[in-house]
Amino acid sequence: MVITMNINEIIEIDSKHYFKTFNRFPVSFTHGEGCKLYDTEGKEYTDFSAGIAVNSLGHNDKDLVNAIASQASKCIHICNLYYNEPQTELAKMLTEGSDFARAFFCNSGAEANEGAIKLARGYFYKKGTPREKIVTAKNSFHGRTLATVTATGQPKYSAPFAPLPQGFVYVDFNDISQMEQAVDSNTAAVMLEVIQAEGGVYLADKEYLKAVEDICKKNGALLIIDEVQTGMGRTGSLFGYQQFNIKPDIISLAKGLGGGVPIGAVLSTEEASKGFAAGDHGTTFGGNPLACSAAKVVVNKLKGGLIEHAAEMGEYMKQLLNQVKSAYENKVVEVRGKGLLLGMELAPEISVRMVIDKLLKMGYIVISCGHNALRFVPPLIIKKEEIDFLASALKEVLASV
Ligand SMILES: *Cc1c(COP(=O)(O)O)cnc(C)c1O
Repeated sequence: MVITMNINEIIEIDSKHYFKTFNRFPVSFTHGEGCKLYDTEGKEYTDFSAGIAVNSLGHNDKDLVNAIASQASKCIHICNLYYNEPQTELAKMLTEGSDFARAFFCNSGAEANEGAIKLARGYFYKKGTPREKIVTAKNSFHGRTLATVTATGQPKYSAPFAPLPQGFVYVDFNDISQMEQAVDSNTAAVMLEVIQAEGGVYLADKEYLKAVEDICKKNGALLIIDEVQTGMGRTGSLFGYQQFNIKPDIISLAKGLGGGVPIGAVLSTEEASKGFAAGDHGTTFGGNPLACSAAKVVVNKLKGGLIEHAAEMGEYMKQLLNQVKSAYENKVVEVRGKGLLLGMELAPEISVRMVIDKLLKMGYIVISCGHNALRFVPPLIIKKEEIDFLASALKEVLASV
């Protein structure tokens, strides 16, 4: 591995030439292996962030690397004016035996949600009864484009960019009566996460989602579940909603889908898919053979036992995090989550950033979420031993803050 710059040189150049959009940690990773990452200074880390719930197979998974290299040597990109076999196969793999009939591929979570919102509005437009309203939850996160930042029920993300697209209405998460009042004959869709991930790892109540499904049916509105973070095995099932006894009309996917290669997807029922006719929606890059070849490896591994592994490791990790909580009752408010999407809310007087900095120094990569919470979203291949070490490091850090 040839390293041409050290971290200080990188930081200096970045500070002059990159947009100031990120409050970065002073680390630059060069390569990884499994759940380990290595930085420019040769330090080893265990990765509990997976590039924000993206690297589902960890780093340098041989099957993923070989599939990408093999496809790259054939053709990287073919536009959507022509058929491409990896895309066709991936669409079949994601829909066959699922609650959905059709797939559309794009490049990110925001773009998948844009597609889902357009599809819902297009569906009612095509029926000759246009509907404007999209109902979303406060404290949600749906992306950074103008429509998805507006769908995101956190004004701090959208306020500077007004005027915003119209028709978005917000309700408190897990409040059935607010949802009853918000949804009417002008509602195209309700869009929710089953676990508000960026928002702080808050789970939807089962009764709530069931009630939302009923309210949508009663009003003829579509139910969109944003599975960008909860999908692809992350919560211990292929899609998060499967653990909540509901059937959405549309879901969006991204993050873990390509194992690190950018790809997003919209999946929908046959009925909802009528919202797009030829020419209504499109993308240049979306669903190209390179990205789809990568995602095929991820889906195959998920269906070949990785989902069960993620569920088991998630249970184990939640148990250990709860032990950490018991040992530091005054510093840990709550442990929340499902599968390998776990959050630990810290007492208000404890700085999450400081805890994350200390963990990073000790060689553990953890990210934040919500108001004062740590988020643990490791690669789905994480092992018990790695979780054990993280739990001990966390105890040591909590003892010191
Ligand atoms: C990350 C995320 C998005 C946005 O995905 P990008 O790929 O960053 O555009 C949307 N919804 C949820 C639930 C997410 O976690």
